[in-house]
Amino acid sequence: MTIRERRPTTTDAGIPVASDEHSLSIGPDGPLLLQDHYLIEQMANFNRERIPERQPHAKGGGAFGTFEVTQDVSAFTRAAVFQPGAKTDVLIRFSTVAGERGSPDTWRDPRGFAVKFYTSEGNLDIVGNNTPVFFIKDPMKFQHFIRSQKRRSDNNLRDHDMQWDFWTLSPESAHQVTWLMGDRGIPRTWRHMNGYSSHTYMWINAAGERFWVKYHFKTDQGVECFTQDEADQMASIDTDYHQRDLYEHIRDGEFPTWTLKMQIMPFEDAKTYRINPFDLTKVWPHSDYPLREVGRLTLNRNVTDYHTEMEQAAFEPNNIVAGTGLSPDKMLLARGFSYSDAHRHRLGVNYKQIPVNAAKVPVHSYSKDGAMRVHNVSDPVYAPNSYGGPAARPDLTDDGGLWYADGEMVRAAYTQRPDDDDWSQAGTLVREVLDDAARTRLVDNIVGHLLNGVSEPILRRAFEYWRNVDKDLGDHVEEGVLAKRSELDPKAAKQANPARSSAQAKA
Ligand code: NDP
Repeated sequence: MTIRERRPTTTDAGIPVASDEHSLSIGPDGPLLLQDHYLIEQMANFNRERIPERQPHAKGGGAFGTFEVTQDVSAFTRAAVFQPGAKTDVLIRFSTVAGERGSPDTWRDPRGFAVKFYTSEGNLDIVGNNTPVFFIKDPMKFQHFIRSQKRRSDNNLRDHDMQWDFWTLSPESAHQVTWLMGDRGIPRTWRHMNGYSSHTYMWINAAGERFWVKYHFKTDQGVECFTQDEADQMASIDTDYHQRDLYEHIRDGEFPTWTLKMQIMPFEDAKTYRINPFDLTKVWPHSDYPLREVGRLTLNRNVTDYHTEMEQAAFEPNNIVAGTGLSPDKMLLARGFSYSDAHRHRLGVNYKQIPVNAAKVPVHSYSKDGAMRVHNVSDPVYAPNSYGGPAARPDLTDDGGLWYADGEMVRAAYTQRPDDDDWSQAGTLVREVLDDAARTRLVDNIVGHLLNGVSEPILRRAFEYWRNVDKDLGDHVEEGVLAKRSELDPKAAKQANPARSSAQAKA
């Protein structure tokens, strides 16, 4: 902090105050007076400082920066932000998912990677994660998933038993859980991780041609991760390590950068592709849809007030500009409602007027009044009208008519495609992406996690879950858990698996 020339303290109404230290009393030892409006203002303000924390993604931080287009992708999108030479201000927020606002940055968890582009056509938000996939694919399960990762109702403790109960009853989680238990489940810093839209979005070019796309923000710092031990140590030394690291690097002029690369799928491919391209638990293999460079994102400005610029930052997948669109990914479509609903709850209906959320282009909406509206509304307040009020311009949007759907109303899983099983891509990650050392760390991480309070029959289901991902992996996990258990409590280990224990004894 820098020492500045002192300015007079004022009330929130700008009136100079008489004392920073003493309340108004009758004599030095007497009772306090109700007309000490400055004391009352201070106490009342303090009582209301905290706003509801995000549920989930409560713990986070970020910075401002710029996005510069380096390659010509105008054949795929007409969005101004992605045209050659465009330079756009951005805001990023990184976060953990399950922990509360004060929780350690280095817990094993996916990381949020939310980007707001303040484009010349309105705000575009990509509310991504540092993983290319997610645990579930239907929004009906999202609330249950997050509850299983947060705290029990009785003792208010986090509980691995309920985490694994949910995961092993939800085989579609296998890909993301494999990813999470691997090295990338704990990034070394926010600067050393990739960001992914995870969801499939649409791009539309000037001729109206449509493409399905996935955004990949690849870190230029290189991917670096913490081992479980390093992360545990750091959690006890500095709970805010990731936030501090980002802040200090930007303060010192060491600006982190990411290269935005896209996977682009021609519109018609989606109908016949062997994997459902809208299933959030699957990636599109790079061999099918290679990465295509678009531009560079640089973070170069720290926030100066965490509350107004970060705690009140509101990202939402609804912020879609011309040349971009949503897709039939059920999770994405549900997030369109749930994010803006969460912001209305946390920040009030006029949250888009908070400067960090405000577009950098003129806003001419017909929204009116509501708590904390600060911008004037002018007549006419309805449309259509004869008095020169704003009029919709379909040519400036790509809203509607983007894809076709027909069918009975059902509650059902996505239609199965040939390669849509829950285990294969997780197995590919284990067998073809990880090396031996990374596989050993994966087993150790899973074993450590399971030993932390997971009980039968969930434990047994977990071994099968991992065998479905990869037979050797499942066997090693079971061996690891049983060996560690018999070290800690030989009797309990034998009771848990009598058949295996006696087979081992015979061997
Ligand atoms: P590729 O060999 O082309 O890509 C492998 C990907 O895995 C790279 O993006 C790499 O990221 C990433 N990776 C490397 N180490 C790890 C790790 N420990 N945990 C998670 N990801 C890691 O293969 P495919 O595209 O055919 O995908 C194979 C598997 O790789 C998938 O089943 C999926 O699990 C995983 N993957 C795929 C991605 C995709 O979009 N296709 C993205 C990320 C992971 P980098 O190059 O940055 O090191």
